Amino acid sequence: MKNKILKLSRDNIQNLTPYQSARSIGGTDGSILLNANESPLPVAFKLKKKIFNRYPECQPYNLILLYSDYINLSCEQILVTRGADEGIELLIKAFCQPRRDAIIYCPPTYDMYRVSAQIADIHIKTIPTIKNTWQLDLPNIQCNLIGVKLIYICNPNNPTGNLILQNDLISLLKMTVGQCLVVIDEAYIEFTPTNTMTNYLSKYSNLVILRTLSKAFALAGIRCGFTLSHPEIINTLKKVISPYPISIPVADIAIQALKTKNIQLMRNRVLSLNNNRTWLIEKLQHIPCVEKVFVSHANYILVKFFMFKKIFDTLWKKGIILRNQNEKNNLNKCIRISIGTHLENILLIKELKIFSEENMF
Ligand SMILES: *Cc1c(COP(=O)(O)O)cnc(C)c1O
Repeated sequence: MKNKILKLSRDNIQNLTPYQSARSIGGTDGSILLNANESPLPVAFKLKKKIFNRYPECQPYNLILLYSDYINLSCEQILVTRGADEGIELLIKAFCQPRRDAIIYCPPTYDMYRVSAQIADIHIKTIPTIKNTWQLDLPNIQCNLIGVKLIYICNPNNPTGNLILQNDLISLLKMTVGQCLVVIDEAYIEFTPTNTMTNYLSKYSNLVILRTLSKAFALAGIRCGFTLSHPEIINTLKKVISPYPISIPVADIAIQALKTKNIQLMRNRVLSLNNNRTWLIEKLQHIPCVEKVFVSHANYILVKFFMFKKIFDTLWKKGIILRNQNEKNNLNKCIRISIGTHLENILLIKELKIFSEENMF
């Protein structure tokens, strides 16, 4: 019976390796969660709206207005979505013909580009970034553009933490203009705001930028993101988005988060997390079980360990939950560590020192 039902699903779904979300992998209440790049500190909000009998606005106007102020774009260039993840999916829905078109995917990077393409039965051209610098392999991308509609680039890249060279992004935009869309996922751009590509939206009609309130804004729980692009692309995406994607409570809270005072608080949190990152990197570099610490411009660090598996498991048992990256392209023995509060970072370093003493000498 069970097998028969499984065979009812589409072939590509039967073959799909689903996205492994941090929350599905585990960690219990009371754990130190350094595995999902969330803000380690909550921000308290109160719902202002109290009644919900009516459907929400399809695209909450006041929310878009505030976001347009925040990023200096016009409202026509903005789509609000259920997290940046929905933006990834809508682009595929609107632009890719199943079993004909392709996306370009440059691992090691965010898995959802691959997962969304597989769900939609879109071809995936995998063009890994260059090992250890994690920069784009532009010649290889150029040779593989036939049939490609979307190129997903994460900047700063998750899980490696590096920035993609701006000249490479511009070369890529020029190389593909009129041919395919370059989607730059700026989920972590608040941690390095001068590197945003929003200034290039007016120049390149094939540029799409993804943003989220889940990371620097400390709002992963409300599921709110933005897709930024040319108005005609935004209108095309509006054709495929569900009728009422943003619930009234989500818009209510997102609007509060984008008020001047709260944006300033977000910027202060970013400064503090960036300082914590500098502190953590310095400490990690002096720990014997650490093989390599990669440069990061976001709220997480990629670290290569000696005995990574034993470290991952030992810390897990002590309630410090990290993200294993060992199975990913070119990330042998690597673990991604989200930047926690100063106290959480101290506890992490303490456990890594104990581990080194017990296992390395
Ligand atoms: C966390 C993350 C997202 C998802 O953002 P949501 O708005 O929570 O859906 C998208 N892209 C990258 C690179 C991320 O790390």
